[in-house]
Amino acid sequence: MPIHEQSLPYIRSISPYQPGKPITQLARDLGLAVEKIVKLASNENPLGMSPKARAAVVEAIAGLSRYPDDFALKQALAERTGLGRERIVLGNGSNDVLDLVARVFLAPGRSAIFAQYAFAVYPLATISAGAEPIAVAASNYGHDLDAMHSAIRPDTRLIWIANPNNPTGTFLPYARLKAFLQAVPAEVVVVLDEAYNEYLSPADRVDTSAWLGEHANLVITRTFSKIYGMAGLRIGYALGSAEIADLMNRVRQPFNCNNLALAAAQAALDDHEFVARSYTLNRAGMEQLVAGLKRLACRHIPSHGNFVSFCAANAAAVNQKLLQNGVIVRPIAAYGMTDWLRVTIGTESENSRFLDALERSL
Ligand SMILES: *Cc1c(COP(=O)(O)O)cnc(C)c1O
Repeated sequence: MPIHEQSLPYIRSISPYQPGKPITQLARDLGLAVEKIVKLASNENPLGMSPKARAAVVEAIAGLSRYPDDFALKQALAERTGLGRERIVLGNGSNDVLDLVARVFLAPGRSAIFAQYAFAVYPLATISAGAEPIAVAASNYGHDLDAMHSAIRPDTRLIWIANPNNPTGTFLPYARLKAFLQAVPAEVVVVLDEAYNEYLSPADRVDTSAWLGEHANLVITRTFSKIYGMAGLRIGYALGSAEIADLMNRVRQPFNCNNLALAAAQAALDDHEFVARSYTLNRAGMEQLVAGLKRLACRHIPSHGNFVSFCAANAAAVNQKLLQNGVIVRPIAAYGMTDWLRVTIGTESENSRFLDALERSL
């Protein structure tokens, strides 16, 4: 028997995560100059990263021969959230902390629930831990919390919720989320993934970390990859009870966050001007893209993130034409949304390039 067949069957059943096509790869594929390519495929910040974070990275280079010390970032997050440092777990991107929660609570013989069209990492983390994934039919492309509650089985240990969700951009009002938390059995962990939290309007936003006191089974995850513009540095975090954080820290690699990411994240947290600028640009860009999609008669799902998914007959062919025009968006056929593409909000000129290319590609 070949050695790879000795591997765990549930690992062999995993379909790998499909990332957005890197600019450098399209440049190689088409012989295009990197500067000619617009990438709106991975919900990255079109403004780059905070200038303060960039300066912190340069300064941190001097300390790279030393193992990282995560104290200062945890302290800054503790002050920001009003939670103790012992309730914060740092990750190599928030994907890392999602995986840590799965490793702590999931195993063969257990199950985890998520919504159809929810973030692709939830089935991945679930299956990697050997647990059974339960996908619950979406309602209007969003989470159907009643159906998710009904799907809870005696072996269910974890429920994944993204708010806003990627790739659909749907948003669950906090009152419904809170009622759901109240109804979920205390022995089931609810992971609330708030990767796009900072893109919500202040009027829509509630600080869910205040719920942790009441719900010991709640884990909230956030990231520096999106509005903070640090996707390439890989840093995110989870907030939860001290007990859950302790368990996650036991399976965490001791130095999962590198010195540059730690320093950058700490500086980024204080760069309110950059976050505000990113937020405003996203609002304007969302209006521009939605208006353009309407003009081209492309149906879209109203989004609360920094991206929008739209319907295009023969999306795979449209995607190919967009690529030939030097525009990278994200096909989401792997989510079962075969007629859809997801585009990240870019700068005004990137959005225009996309809309022009889309008009030629439809
Ligand atoms: C982008 C994203 C993340 C964050 O990923 P990182 O590992 O922090 O880069 C988490 N959840 C959702 C739903 C996302 O879209």
